[in-house]
Amino acid sequence: MAVIPVYNCFHPVLKQKTEPVENIDDELVKLVDDMFDTMHKAEGIGLAANQVGVSKSLLVIDIGYYNEKYKGPPILMINPVVKSFSDEIYEYEEGCLSIPNVRDVVERPKIIQVSYYDLNQKERNIEADNLLSRVIQHEIDHLNGILFFERLTPLRKTLLKNKLRKIEKGQYEADYPMILPDGKLLNPTRKTV
Ligand code: ZN
Repeated sequence: MAVIPVYNCFHPVLKQKTEPVENIDDELVKLVDDMFDTMHKAEGIGLAANQVGVSKSLLVIDIGYYNEKYKGPPILMINPVVKSFSDEIYEYEEGCLSIPNVRDVVERPKIIQVSYYDLNQKERNIEADNLLSRVIQHEIDHLNGILFFERLTPLRKTLLKNKLRKIEKGQYEADYPMILPDGKLLNPTRKTV
């Protein structure tokens, strides 16, 4: 397991739709291990493969690692697809490891049905509610090249403009290594306690 750099939201890899995973090989298993390690170290609860520069349709989620109230296991989803969304919408604050130090309120459907493949190439179908549903939707958005600030109301988007401009230039502090939009590596300027 290794911590690998997270890509800044303005890097082109995060604006492209990812390709479906066709082979589950040792390289993919290692990538999944590294993604879990990277997400845990950066204190995230979800991470999509293109956030570590790999344009493939897979994501990892581990809400319980930092949230004692949540009892669910870590989840890996390969080629996930949302099959249905509930009409009920709710608001909740989101953050993103590719958009350091930005949190904002996003409206999303409350319940979703998702299908995906696991590491044994078995198809799985689940219903997800509340936070799990939200994290899955946020990560599947990444796989489709969509960032959470694109889903904000026009007013909230305007209020974030200056902060996002700084992120684009790499003018922020993060506790984990990041790849800037021009491909340069930015190492942490602040140590985690
Ligand atoms: Zn994100």
